[in-house]
Amino acid sequence: MSAAIDPLEERLQASLKRLQLTHTRETLDATLAEAAREGWTYPEFLDRLLAREVEAKQGKRVQMAMQIAHFPCVRELSGFDFAFQPSVDERLVQELSGGRFICNGENVLIFGPPGVGKTHLAVGLGRAVIGRGHAARFTTATALLATLAKAESEGVLDAKLAEYGKPKLLIIDELGYLPFERRAAHLFFQLVNRRYERGSLLVTTNQRVSEWGTVFGDEVLATAILDRLLHHSHTLVITGESYRLREKRKSGLIRGGLPAADPAAQDRKEGGAERRPDRGGKN
Ligand code: ADP
Ligand code: MG
Repeated sequence: MSAAIDPLEERLQASLKRLQLTHTRETLDATLAEAAREGWTYPEFLDRLLAREVEAKQGKRVQMAMQIAHFPCVRELSGFDFAFQPSVDERLVQELSGGRFICNGENVLIFGPPGVGKTHLAVGLGRAVIGRGHAARFTTATALLATLAKAESEGVLDAKLAEYGKPKLLIIDELGYLPFERRAAHLFFQLVNRRYERGSLLVTTNQRVSEWGTVFGDEVLATAILDRLLHHSHTLVITGESYRLREKRKSGLIRGGLPAADPAAQDRKEGGAERRPDRGGKN
């Protein structure tokens, strides 16, 4: 048989390429064979072809959005043991995972000591809403402030603020682990202000609201930030035990209850394989 390409097939390939129906183009031969084998009707054929293309495109979009989000780890809500942490309102978490809070521009605040699953819930919620077509971006408060301070010193603060203003959900992990310098607190305020009522923020923190003045080094600024964060917000307050410590206790590494130490120092001591050196501490 000659190697000449059938002009019909050539046209089909060109049209599929032009329409960017990549999955259909790549699987056309197999799909045609399947259709002939199974005796699909014309509507059935079109329906399956399009459904597969839509699914492939959606999968690719989600995959790209996950990369853009910069999650520090993979954590799913399905892997969260709600029975271990009864202070977490499971129904609220499930409701939030539906993404309606993003459509409404509402914020989520997760309070709790180290190891109780704040980052897990934040990443799990982020991944869930990406699955529903929203763009999300994850950062730690420390990394965010370093980036904003650098942008400011280079005269490109506005562009950076715009970049962090863009995703429908911005997750800021570990607020309050380190107190902010005065300038950093102002930068943070600018960011919160820019996103206020425009895009959702999900903030995790180990500090009670009453401590925020200390975190931001300024009561007035802390109040202004809190005001904007808490207006239209959902709050999860986790009061339970550290999951990491439970794991260690189970393996016999430690015994008894938590020492009543400063929680941030506590978390530093815990160490942990999943810790990323570039994130300078807790996860
Ligand atoms: P935090 O951010 O509050 O310090 P993490 O979310 O980092 O805590 O949790 C520490 C580790 O324990 C992570 O590996 C996380 O997946 C796991 N973990 C915490 N709470 C739970 C839970 N209730 N169910 C399952 N895994 C959990
Ligand atoms: Mg964490």
